[in-house]
Amino acid sequence: MSRDELKGLIRTVPDFPSAGIQFRDITTLLAHAEGLAASIDMLAQRAEGLDATKVAGIEARGFIFGTALALRLGVGFVPVRKAGKLPVECIGEDYALEYAEARVELDPSIIEAGDRVLVVDDLLATGGTALAAVRLLRRAGAQVSHALFVIDLPELGGADALSEQGVETLSLVEFA
Ligand code: IMP
Repeated sequence: MSRDELKGLIRTVPDFPSAGIQFRDITTLLAHAEGLAASIDMLAQRAEGLDATKVAGIEARGFIFGTALALRLGVGFVPVRKAGKLPVECIGEDYALEYAEARVELDPSIIEAGDRVLVVDDLLATGGTALAAVRLLRRAGAQVSHALFVIDLPELGGADALSEQGVETLSLVEFA
């Protein structure tokens, strides 16, 4: 499957969650057997040579792609969770959304010395969410050099924001 075909499986929902927003929805891609398989194949290709020891997925859609990728790479999966979900003592990072504040949390005890962690999410917009995940993972002792996304919205500048913090972005498709 080509990248354009994969892109064609992603649904665009106008005015969600608010007027004027074009929401890129992976539900239709996930439901498509070949599209789902191709998306994991392509993520695995981009992860080649990075020598990751763990994959971290951002709740919730990053769990889907991140877990499949971790299985493919033969490494463990680390959930970066939304606030208040972890049953153990955890560390947290607050970050700004367009009109609100959000928080991600991590159990730092699952990061081992020398871990090289690859961050995965469905979509990169401003990069705020991914950067909060990177800060958390680094505080726990992980090395983080790359983040992988199914979709990049380049006009929102996420790749530059990540690059400024020493994280290179890899993505499968872009929407202008
Ligand atoms: P950022 O923090 O601005 O980079 O936004 C990325 C986060 O918001 C990711 O966790 C995405 O899942 C979510 N997100 C933002 N825009 C969209 C969209 O159009 N479709 C799906 N998820 C989105």
